[in-house]
Amino acid sequence: MSLSPVKILECPQIQSTNPSHGYEILGSVNVTSHKDLISIVEKARHAQIKWQSLGVDKRCELVGQLLETLKANREEFIERTSREMGMPLDLSRGVVYGGFEKISWNLENAPKFLKPTILFEDDQEVNKQILEPFGVMACIVAWNFPFGNFATSVIPALLAGNTVVMKYSEEVPLFSKFLEEITRESKALPEGVLNFVYGDGVVGSLMCEQDFDLISFTGSSSTGQKIYEAAAKKLIPVCLELGGSSPGIVFEDTKLTDELIQSIFWKRFLNTAQFCDGLKRLIVHESLFDECVRKLSAYAATVKIGDPLDRNTQLGPLVAERQVIKLEDQIKDAVNKGAKIVCGGKRPSALSGAYYQPTILTNITPDMRVWKEEVFGPALPIVSFKNYDEALQLANDTDYGLSAVVYSDDEKILELAFSDIKAGSVEDGFTNYYRPQNPFGGYKQSGIGRQGGAIGFREVCQVKVKAYRK
Ligand code: NAD
Repeated sequence: MSLSPVKILECPQIQSTNPSHGYEILGSVNVTSHKDLISIVEKARHAQIKWQSLGVDKRCELVGQLLETLKANREEFIERTSREMGMPLDLSRGVVYGGFEKISWNLENAPKFLKPTILFEDDQEVNKQILEPFGVMACIVAWNFPFGNFATSVIPALLAGNTVVMKYSEEVPLFSKFLEEITRESKALPEGVLNFVYGDGVVGSLMCEQDFDLISFTGSSSTGQKIYEAAAKKLIPVCLELGGSSPGIVFEDTKLTDELIQSIFWKRFLNTAQFCDGLKRLIVHESLFDECVRKLSAYAATVKIGDPLDRNTQLGPLVAERQVIKLEDQIKDAVNKGAKIVCGGKRPSALSGAYYQPTILTNITPDMRVWKEEVFGPALPIVSFKNYDEALQLANDTDYGLSAVVYSDDEKILELAFSDIKAGSVEDGFTNYYRPQNPFGGYKQSGIGRQGGAIGFREVCQVKVKAYRK
């Protein structure tokens, strides 16, 4: 069922470029027409009833077969990620292997978390809670962790019995095409269960008008708001994984060892600082401020920036020229308002593409865009604080609430910060919370709903209560 007349899309193809190597053209993909979009959604609806009726064990078996084919093509997924969006090879490898781990965890746990539970029982009757799929899910995602998005957003929905129509960002159409081809080649999933459409925000917004039962979205908060409005018109649920401006706090008792400095650096600059829950504002006790700034900029000078396909590269380019321009505007705004560039602050002269040096900024004021907005590129504003209350005020001084990092050896301080910071996750800086068991998502403008873990299954299911006599 279409809710609007068929529209003709203006741009018939999306061109994919390599953000390294002077934006060489890698290929192009046809944009999905409105007519094709309608028929893809119809196909997904048609396939859904049968897919649901297979039961969770059979669905796990089929998705398990798909996983084997994905694994057999791991090197292609890794290389395509690096080539198309500029992620260094080692990180692409980590993301693809992390995706396999997530899929495996979901396969092992779906039967347990999707099974009916008894809510009430006496000698007369039983009341059970049943989790049922919503039906057909639209899945619209960003570009910054292409394989991770698939493992996180799509797999639990399929295992729960939904069918999915997926649109990747216009920045990674060739990755999407390859995933579509491998899925078809594997023959694991029945026709219509997992479908791909291509295009930019125009296609994304057309998707939101189609006959879906649920929209899962990963991207910016401004687009998330538009999607929420579109879903509200149809009164369908959403799961929104949006932007962030996560604080990192370095408390007074912390020792600024090399390990700690590197932890801070990579929590900010990994993937050229293009990840939603990256540490985007650093808040350091005044007694450690100068030493921390000096050590971080000294470490930044040792990091190798270059071709993402070169095994020695630690930082690649940003995904596109437009991202560099936005970053330059944010840094210019800060400098005009009195910020000091301690290191970086320009494009590396020897590299052609969407490159920018890791940049550290001090003399920050709350009116600066680098403090108020999400900065999706390699810049880190650092401020100082005098006491715990001031640190927490600065940490929570944001419209976002995706995550936070706390550095302290004092358990009491850690416990206080865990409860006082308004965010979907708060971690002691030496831990790793990217685990398939953990739900991921944010407070405030960082989103609605959670993906991952047991809660991730709940997000893609309707809840039904079944009451019957014994
Ligand atoms: P974006 O919002 O510009 O685009 C995301 C997706 O939405 C793309 O597929 C795009 O084509 C589509 N889109 C754009 N306009 C649309 C519209 N009006 N209706 C429907 N779809 C539309 O975001 P981006 O620049 O691709 O990605 C970066 C953002 O994503 C950052 O803010 C980052 O923090 C966020 N992100 C969040 C998470 C998370 O899990 N919370 C993960 C990755 C990225």
